[in-house]
Amino acid sequence: MDLEFSKADEDYRQRLRAWLRDNLGEGGSANAVMRQAEKDPGAAKDPLAGARAWARRLHEAGYVGLAWPKEYGGQDASFTEQVICAEEMARVRTPPLINTIGLTIIGPTLVQHGSEEQKRRFLPRILSADDLWCQGFSEPEAGSDLASLRCRAELDGDEFVVNGQKVWTSLAFLSNWMFLLVRTDPDAPKREGISYLLLDMKTPGINVRPLRNAAGGQHFSEVFLDDVRVPRDNLVGELNRGWSIARSSLDHERSGLSGVIALEETLGRLWRMAGGLKRGTDQALADAGARRALAQHWIEIEGLRHLGYRTLSDQIAGKPPGPGASVGKLFASEVRQEMTRTALQLEGPLGPVAKRSPHVVERGRWHAAYFDALAHSIGGGTSEIMRNVIAEKVLGLPRLQDD
Ligand SMILES: Cc1cc2nc3c(=O)[nH]c(=O)nc-3n(C[C@H](O)[C@H](O)[C@H](O)COP(=O)(O)OP(=O)(O)OC[C@H]3O[C@@H](n4cnc5c(N)ncnc54)[C@H](O)[C@@H]3O)c2cc1C
Repeated sequence: MDLEFSKADEDYRQRLRAWLRDNLGEGGSANAVMRQAEKDPGAAKDPLAGARAWARRLHEAGYVGLAWPKEYGGQDASFTEQVICAEEMARVRTPPLINTIGLTIIGPTLVQHGSEEQKRRFLPRILSADDLWCQGFSEPEAGSDLASLRCRAELDGDEFVVNGQKVWTSLAFLSNWMFLLVRTDPDAPKREGISYLLLDMKTPGINVRPLRNAAGGQHFSEVFLDDVRVPRDNLVGELNRGWSIARSSLDHERSGLSGVIALEETLGRLWRMAGGLKRGTDQALADAGARRALAQHWIEIEGLRHLGYRTLSDQIAGKPPGPGASVGKLFASEVRQEMTRTALQLEGPLGPVAKRSPHVVERGRWHAAYFDALAHSIGGGTSEIMRNVIAEKVLGLPRLQDD
């Protein structure tokens, strides 16, 4: 595997750096594009106007959808260019993109499995952030055992009629499209009667109820579907053959979740926080245990980076992300949790102090990050399920039970 960037790659990096210099506001992360868009009189109707404007600006400059085919608005760029792009954006801390579920899960799934009409219709609007997507897979009785899902869709002429419930649907209340799994043949073995649909969230019969998480944030919702009519054209792949497409969506989701760059940024913050903390009269970093913990996080993130390079070289060879993505997802969620634990240990008794208290450290950032990190070992498939996938699909061990 060649880990060097070519001269052309380095030229690409320099062009991107120059573009970021010209397009970010003072101080880098304060984005002038977003602020300007929010001031626009039309923006009052769209609370996401600023975030959309930034996503559009990046897209127009050719820095979104790098691996997607040009004919659908992508760049046909190399994977090394994608890595450079991600590295440079992280270096100057660009604002996060609002349409990540579209860009990392349903977009790549449609590139692989969508009809020509679906690709032309949906992919450009994902890239331009005109459409925001959510993922309707989990149900109250179907999370880890996703194939047990019960949400029904029956064909009625040229439309499916959908009835059922989805849960933990991230950003459902902001999204105008959902990709979802439905049972279209209740008599078939459970993985064979599932279909994959694309649903316009403005269709009558959809009720979105936001849920609050353990950290008090409102990130996901439950979604009730009552006689919701979906055109047959919105079926991805074949009827009753949605399970293998769902698997590829999950692989894309898990490969995106390893997020080495986000982890590096968290480690950088942790170093800065630790550098400013005192224990009595001593610097917190005078403690050998604290230094050892930080060094260990760095080593593990480097391990993850090299795991990422391995996935990258597979992708360059034309292979989609497979079960190996589960290794990165599992390991990354554990590293993230360990880092937030280190942060709270360094903060000592003040770590859990509430956000509004005068004694709070770093405005309670690490307290919130600790709870957020717990969710990373659940969302996108739990750590136990990742271990099962690794055991069966990566190590070739026998299945515990045949379901
Ligand atoms: C932050 C966050 C965002 C999410 N966003 C979305 C989203 O946008 N769309 C969506 O569809 N879903 C979403 N989810 C749901 C997520 O995919 C499920 O929570 C997850 O798959 C686990 O399902 P469950 O909650 O039903 O738990 P269960 O499946 O009931 O699992 C309960 C416990 O049992 C363990 N367990 C279950 N089966 C096994 C087994 N075979 N072997 C070993 N252990 C097992 C699990 O690991 C877990 O610890 C999100 C979840 C979180 C936390």
